[in-house]
Amino acid sequence: MPNTDYTPWYVSPQSQFKLSDFDTEPPSKGLPSGDELEEHLADMGEKLDKLQSTLHAAKTRGLLVVFQGMDTSGKDGVIRSVFSHVSPLGVRAEAFGVPTDLESRHDFLWRIHAKAPARGEMVIFNRSHYEDVLVTRVRGMIDEETCQHRYNNILRFESLLHNAGITVLKCYLHISKSEQKKRLQARLDDPRKHWKLQPSDFADRELWPKFTQAYEAALSATSTPESPWYVVPADSKPYRDSFVAGLIVQTLENMKLKTPKPSFDLSQVQLT
Ligand code: ADP
Repeated sequence: MPNTDYTPWYVSPQSQFKLSDFDTEPPSKGLPSGDELEEHLADMGEKLDKLQSTLHAAKTRGLLVVFQGMDTSGKDGVIRSVFSHVSPLGVRAEAFGVPTDLESRHDFLWRIHAKAPARGEMVIFNRSHYEDVLVTRVRGMIDEETCQHRYNNILRFESLLHNAGITVLKCYLHISKSEQKKRLQARLDDPRKHWKLQPSDFADRELWPKFTQAYEAALSATSTPESPWYVVPADSKPYRDSFVAGLIVQTLENMKLKTPKPSFDLSQVQLT
């Protein structure tokens, strides 16, 4: 079962860290068995379901969970596995691709803000506003100065959400380049998975070092105690899922959510 102290995987603000400082594999000491991970995930799923119901009922707080990572890092997989435990009521998943014509004529946060959670909601982002300081930077679509401005825009935006009662929890799904090779090969070998492949998957793999640098800079510039980034070891799918489920449970528990009191005197109710 993953350690419930997630601090070692928290990105310290402005830490100029290296992704290579973080393991892509689960910690070798005390590694839980497959069964234990499954049990932990089921446990966390039950807790998540209860906490999400309370979040939905209370409508005092909201949660935005952002997933970023290299291609095949498991964004779709973790969303399917972790959120299958919660009621679709009050939960929404949003994916962000290449901006449309209209979206690219607005500021980069326009399409993001429109999909942000309201109090009472839990929203999951599969890719996010971080693409605007990652792929855009790596592909030379923005210059260094614009990128720095965008970090500040992101910090202010997430602080705005925080002040409105919305917590932003950000997960970087950390896989090794060799694990990506295995996963891409598995997709090439299985015709049912061909639809998942894009030319950009192979082009971006060639740019692995540049993406790594862009992630290091972006995570370091935008991790804050209120809107933290975590580097999730994601080479093992069961460990990744268990880790993320536990992290979300902990985040919701820290909100100390309470169901609202009834708005009328229940003792006066007479059932016929
Ligand atoms: P995924 O790869 O997550 O399964 P898609 O195949 O739809 O989903 O790919 C989405 C693509 O859109 C990715 O290559 C991603 O880099 C790109 N993208 C997302 N947001 C932006 C953005 N703001 N600017 C440019 N490209 C973006």
